[in-house]
Amino acid sequence: MSAAKRPRTVADLRARLARLRLSGPDAERAKRLLGLYLETAEAHGQDFDTVAREMKAGLPAVRIGGADLAAQDGAPAIREAACAPGCAFCCILAGDDGGVILEAEARRLHAALAPLSGAPDGREWSARACPSLDPETRMCRAYDARPMICRTYLSPDAEACRQVAEGVPAPGPGTLGAQRLYLTVQAAGRALLAGAVTVPTYALARIAAAAVEGRDLATALREARHKPRVLDDERGRLAGD
Ligand code: SF4
Ligand code: SF4
Repeated sequence: MSAAKRPRTVADLRARLARLRLSGPDAERAKRLLGLYLETAEAHGQDFDTVAREMKAGLPAVRIGGADLAAQDGAPAIREAACAPGCAFCCILAGDDGGVILEAEARRLHAALAPLSGAPDGREWSARACPSLDPETRMCRAYDARPMICRTYLSPDAEACRQVAEGVPAPGPGTLGAQRLYLTVQAAGRALLAGAVTVPTYALARIAAAAVEGRDLATALREARHKPRVLDDERGRLAGD
């Protein structure tokens, strides 16, 4: 995209949104909800830089995903979940990435964990556990700052989660739809800001590891930054592509 086409106003972002082609099952809903965010921002006189900073950080995506999750309260998948305090097979991660999180979530997670630097972490319980985990209680030490992927993940069967943690596929564990919606909103926001602002995603486990190992936020963000395709790959995976 040429510099001349860069968006410079909130109205430019709204015009881009109207033309945006986005694939995936949540695309139209994500566009509509992001459109409401932009409409509200414009009505309140928010300038482009403020709106772009919020979108880059993922704040609209987190709010929209959070609202969708709250609306699911009491849904069968939540009522029937086996999730309980100290049940933490889902916090044993498949690799050193741990899942896609957005900048605002990365900053919050780092801030919550940095004061715990040097204390025993989840990797003393299981080598591949999330560094946010308490190895004794198996509770998340950053519960209030845990990202959307952790808030949306559940299972009707903890044994299935144990199998998945051991690399054996098992039906049941997975994320609620709010996770896919929030990633789609962020993908839409990234497309609107193209040419003006770069919108990275980050690896949950790498942010957590950097924080508990005493590295500062700038270093953590640098170490955990994803390649651009990771967001689309994760959206495709959740859509079953
Ligand atoms: S997702 Fe699985 S491992 Fe995690 S709390 Fe729920 S039942 Fe336990
Ligand atoms: S941040 Fe907390 S809830 Fe999420 S994987 Fe790590 S320990 Fe588990």
